[in-house]
Amino acid sequence: MGSPQSYLPKNWYWVPVVAALYYGLAIGSLTLTQNSDGIASFWPGSGLFVAALLLSRQSLHASILLTVAIGSVMANLQAGSTVQEALVYSAANCIEALIVSRFACKSDGSLGSMDDPRSVVRFFGGALAGGFVSAAIATMFSGNLSVHFFQSWFGTVVLGILIVTPAIVMIANAANRISVRPAKREIFWAGLALTAVTAITLAVFSQNQYPLLFVIPLCVIGATYRLGAPAAAASVVMIALSGTWATAMGDGPINLMAGTTQAKNLFFQFFLLSLLCAAWPLSALLAQKHRLFGELANSKKRLEQAERAANIAHWYYEIGSKNLHWSDELFRIYGMSLDEEPLPNRRAILRYHPDDRDMILQTLITALRQQSEYHFEARIIRPGGEIRYVTSSGEPDFDAHGEVIGIFGMVKDITERVGAIKSLKEARSVAEQQAKIATHLSETDLLTNIANRRKVVGFLQQAIVTAEKTGEPLSIGILDVDHFKSINDRFGHQAGDHVLEAIAATSTSFLRASDCVGRLGGEEFLFVLPGTTSEVAMAIAERVRAGIMNLDWAQAELEQVTACVGIAQYVEGADEMWLMQAADEALYEAKKAGRNRLRLAA
Ligand code: GH3
Ligand code: MG
Ligand code: MG
Repeated sequence: MGSPQSYLPKNWYWVPVVAALYYGLAIGSLTLTQNSDGIASFWPGSGLFVAALLLSRQSLHASILLTVAIGSVMANLQAGSTVQEALVYSAANCIEALIVSRFACKSDGSLGSMDDPRSVVRFFGGALAGGFVSAAIATMFSGNLSVHFFQSWFGTVVLGILIVTPAIVMIANAANRISVRPAKREIFWAGLALTAVTAITLAVFSQNQYPLLFVIPLCVIGATYRLGAPAAAASVVMIALSGTWATAMGDGPINLMAGTTQAKNLFFQFFLLSLLCAAWPLSALLAQKHRLFGELANSKKRLEQAERAANIAHWYYEIGSKNLHWSDELFRIYGMSLDEEPLPNRRAILRYHPDDRDMILQTLITALRQQSEYHFEARIIRPGGEIRYVTSSGEPDFDAHGEVIGIFGMVKDITERVGAIKSLKEARSVAEQQAKIATHLSETDLLTNIANRRKVVGFLQQAIVTAEKTGEPLSIGILDVDHFKSINDRFGHQAGDHVLEAIAATSTSFLRASDCVGRLGGEEFLFVLPGTTSEVAMAIAERVRAGIMNLDWAQAELEQVTACVGIAQYVEGADEMWLMQAADEALYEAKKAGRNRLRLAA
């Protein structure tokens, strides 16, 4: 029931208020309900006393004890007790209140929740112990030594404590807990319910014609159900007070029973006790329900937060009730507002990209037929046209008998991931493209756009390795333009460049895809012809030579251009230097022999 220091007598001015209330209750109880023993049938003062101690600061306890004791002595004297009786009764009530307030408290000084059976047992134990000690003191020292006196005293104070203390503590704490002003409607209904309980109670107790006592528990249960534990406690207090008053005045259904006043009192006390026992479990259940609702709301909130952070949403379709639930995140993924209705499957599919719908439909139909899980990746188109990439998965929900009762699905927004993968792919393709260009540039002769020296010599080295391995023939040719210096000199450097381009193109056109032609530098070209004997190489070189000679040089405003080729065939153990040297020597021979011709290395 919260911290005892939290609400009521924080300040000294509560002390005389408590004492005055105690005095009033004591006078009322004594003058109204005093029986043959001089004991009231119900002693609400004890409950007030304990509640005041439980709710106040430790430093105020001494003053509360003293002032309440004075009020008690005055009330007893006024009701006709002797001085000794007044002193003994007051001392007994003080000791009793001290015992109960100490016993009933948890280690933190609070009464604990009445929902918790341990708190209830501790409180009951405290009330019984306090009642026992005060009854013993009152019986022994007041001069009323009888079992009956002990019983009456014990019953009235214990009942006073059990009924009144929880009511005051609960109401004080409930008032303290209300940090937000309750809605007007709630105040209205609470007021109406309490007024109804009061009116019905007064009606029941203001007559003694009909045994209407059975109406009272209905009222208490109704008020408890509507307003919870504080209302239960308040109703019981109100019923105890009005019932005690009415019974004392000779009114109310209690007076319908035959019996002594003591028997009637005992009956009424047990009636009140059974009211308490009925109201407490109900209010405990209600409190538990509220707590569970609160916890459920909290965990739902945390789930929503987690779903939002992870971009994961869920839905559930209950087959029996056709009830479809969407989590908030699902509305966000679909680009819908939270107050729209969840879309049933058929309509949800229409929110997907047209190209994805068939696949989704097939996946869902298969899963439904096989009652199995499904998983797909697709694109949702939001109302504004924005595309979200999602993965969607689901599985049937079975009951204990293996019957499908629902479908549970999860949708994850993976747009960011897809975007990241896409840009990664794009970046990689750009890098690959650039690497390709760089490689091409590093292997290409810029003027003629055929392989450069590095590339063609590398190709030759590779071809030598293959020839060594396979034993297949390999030939090369080195081509050199005749009198190229003179072409440059007479027609200009640009015309020379054009000749080089034309020769590169012609050479390439006569070679196979598996051959390689590259520019070694200046006006020299190297042909590498894998799988080719020197005879075939001579034939190819001849075609190239003739091809160059037969080009329409006049059209390019040039005179006849010719070239020589030196051919060499790979022999075992030769390397590229040796082979090129051999071809070069053959080329020199061709030049020497008068140009525009071929020579095979010796
Ligand atoms: P030969 O018949 O004995 O082969 O005589 P040649 O004039 O062709 O021989 P030489 O090696 O004396 O001359 C080659 C000339 O090629 C020298 C150089 O100015 C020219 N040359 C080298 N590279 C280029 C080029 O990229 N473009 C042009 N236009 N000329 C170049
Ligand atoms: Mg040359
Ligand atoms: Mg030359």
